[in-house]
Amino acid sequence: MEDCCRTCMPCLSRLWNWVWPEFHYPNITRPAEIRTVSGDISVPAPKKKPTQLYAALFDFEARSEEELTVKEGDKLSVIEKRGDYVLAKKLTGTLESGLLPANYVALVQDEFAKYKWYYGNINRQKAEQLLLAPQNKNGSFLVRISESHSDEYTISGRNEGQVYHYRIRRSVIGAYFVSEKISFATLDELIRYYQTNSKGLGCPLEQPCVQQRELFDMEPWERPREEFKLQRKLGEGHFGEVWEATWSSKNQKVAIKMLKQEDTKQDEFIKEVHALKNLHHPKLIKLLAMCSRGEPVYIVTELMSKGSLKSYLATPEGQILTSAHLIYMASQVAEGMAYLEDRHIVHRDLAARNILVGEDLICKVADFGLARIIKDSVYTASRSTKIPVRWTAPEAALYQRFSVKSDVWSFGVLLYEMMSRGKMPYDGKSNKEVLEILASGYRLPSPPKCPPNIYRIMLECWNPEPSKRPSFHALHSQLDNIYSRLYFKTIEV
Ligand code: ATP
Repeated sequence: MEDCCRTCMPCLSRLWNWVWPEFHYPNITRPAEIRTVSGDISVPAPKKKPTQLYAALFDFEARSEEELTVKEGDKLSVIEKRGDYVLAKKLTGTLESGLLPANYVALVQDEFAKYKWYYGNINRQKAEQLLLAPQNKNGSFLVRISESHSDEYTISGRNEGQVYHYRIRRSVIGAYFVSEKISFATLDELIRYYQTNSKGLGCPLEQPCVQQRELFDMEPWERPREEFKLQRKLGEGHFGEVWEATWSSKNQKVAIKMLKQEDTKQDEFIKEVHALKNLHHPKLIKLLAMCSRGEPVYIVTELMSKGSLKSYLATPEGQILTSAHLIYMASQVAEGMAYLEDRHIVHRDLAARNILVGEDLICKVADFGLARIIKDSVYTASRSTKIPVRWTAPEAALYQRFSVKSDVWSFGVLLYEMMSRGKMPYDGKSNKEVLEILASGYRLPSPPKCPPNIYRIMLECWNPEPSKRPSFHALHSQLDNIYSRLYFKTIEV
């Protein structure tokens, strides 16, 4: 082995310290969340009627008969939740049903959210607590989603110091009614009717329940920006500045990405970042919170003490990393990417600048999913300058065919950046030249001191045929094995 760690005891013991907790990691069984659903799950006939309206956030190709193929934007109803999956039914076209990863679907903005009396998904007990609060009086009412039938609603009204609940039912054609004698095309019409005909219900509906809705509706994920005290600027990317901050209510240091919202539809953006928060893996940067009210939008993530891998490689500490250290780090990136691969999530901007480094050489993939949401318009608007061509597979750079396999290509370039300790790929060449030489079969040369088996992996990632490139699972296990072999050699010295 090259470099100092072969003989240098401080380095060796440091290596031992950071390696030990991960030492058995080749034997670790995959966490449950990355197992795919296999044939042993049968899909029972749906028990309930369609519930709230959901939409597919990403395209999803069914991998077995139990799964459902959807296109981004397909309208769905979710029949039930099954672990990391949901049993969903398409509401248009073929009306098929099947399993989808839960983070591929999101609730479509509730159509009644604009009404002051609408409180959405609160239970009976909460409704009573709110209506009996001192700021409310007889005649205060609210409408909530029925606990037992989630496509139906309940009116909760206060009268003579008590709360009464009336179920609003749906007819086969979707009309709303409390009493079968009279039904309404919309929920709003039904409420307006009973506001002027209180006898029909037996409870006056005079004023919507009073509640500090802003706070009440705010999910823990959405936080007021006052909770974050900005401390120092960590860097700046295409889409705004990144700051280190303290999250006062948790007494925790965090990183905040501030987004200028020029090109993005805010609602769409918030919905999609919302879905990303459900991605949890130790090798992915954890999204902690968001401040989407007002500008700039804050995306709050865990703080990584050593910043981006790109800048870390340029530090004196980064420059003396051995191949074993670098392979250990690359293996972690492949592991995080394998988690995204299982979920068919394409990163589109995998590069050393989007890997963050913490203590003990812990590496995590950052900005996953965001590229598609926030960079698309920029990339397509002025492709030649904005697409990170040096990291992008030819089929993606030329024809926008982004896929998990185009991420694998980028991973090969990331490996090159790592093994060359931060060298710019295709240094001295323009983007146009890069695409030309790649088309003629040229590939980046092996960086000096790069073990041949690692360079072979790079070349596999740069196969012109996307389907012939390895999977991230395969890359992870290959790198892990190479790392374990190097590690044993190191400690034998
Ligand atoms: P691009 O926007 O093109 O992807 P980028 O990834 O460098 O470029 P940002 O993601 O905005 O841009 O990050 C800018 C810099 O902020 C990073 O290079 C890194 O040094 C720092 N940074 C970002 N996130 C964190 C974090 N969670 N912890 C510590 N430092 C961070």
